[in-house]
Amino acid sequence: MATALLLSSSRRVAVKAFARSASTMADKPVAVALQDVVSRMKLAAERAGRTQPVRLVAVSKTKPVEAVQEAYDAGQRVFGENYVQEMLDKAPQLPTDVQWHFIGHLQSNKVKSIVESVPNLSMVETVDSVKLADKLNRAVEQAGRQEPLAVMVQVNTSGEESKHGVEPEDCVELARHIAQNCGKLRLAGLMTIGMPDYSSRPENFSCLAECRTRVAAALGLASPEQLELSMGMSGDFEQAIEMGSTNIRVGSTIFGAREYPSKAPKSPSPPPS
Ligand SMILES: *Cc1c(COP(=O)(O)O)cnc(C)c1O
Repeated sequence: MATALLLSSSRRVAVKAFARSASTMADKPVAVALQDVVSRMKLAAERAGRTQPVRLVAVSKTKPVEAVQEAYDAGQRVFGENYVQEMLDKAPQLPTDVQWHFIGHLQSNKVKSIVESVPNLSMVETVDSVKLADKLNRAVEQAGRQEPLAVMVQVNTSGEESKHGVEPEDCVELARHIAQNCGKLRLAGLMTIGMPDYSSRPENFSCLAECRTRVAAALGLASPEQLELSMGMSGDFEQAIEMGSTNIRVGSTIFGAREYPSKAPKSPSPPPS
């Protein structure tokens, strides 16, 4: 890497070069990390004897557009964002064949702007109320979007107090509402984060799979596998795949640790520039 050479001659130049690069010194280049994740996904799928494809959502929240572009250039097309404003900022700066997944808590008053401003919004994984489903449905209709918007029902599988996600016993009702009353939405499946600290346990994954079985039966689907399972993040995506995940959401393993001052004490502060 050119920056390694620069290090020996001029430290200041090297620091500037790193500041512009999407990767930090501690992290692998995005393309390499991405390829690693893809290989690990394949191995996990093989171990589990899985034949269905598994989708990788590269979670780019808090990461600069340059990092997303690096992953795009390496072949990645599906990206996930948690914050509406961040998606609104990034989407126009990136190629239009990016498939954006919204994976954060979606407030009703942001629905219209995300649907109208991001025509390549491919999925909203975090529908957790009838009200939100109805709002999305109306927004898709009003935006004149041709194809229906894929959505997932977010389920709180931790059994702990959480503001986000329906309780497992309520997933059928919401899924049925979407399937029967929201003609502009396509129910793609179910999603879970896992524990409140964003780790997951096998129980979270099996709970989501059980929810899917019940939803599929209630909707009269021939097989539960007609619905997707979005589960598994950096720390547990291989296990999630082994337990049936069709959509994993991986952020820090691809893009490096996120630097929230309050949330990520493990990431060192950047060098002064
Ligand atoms: C941030 C986030 C991820 C990615 O987490 P990593 O541990 O960085 O892979 C996945 N899903 C959701 C909903 C997230 O908010």
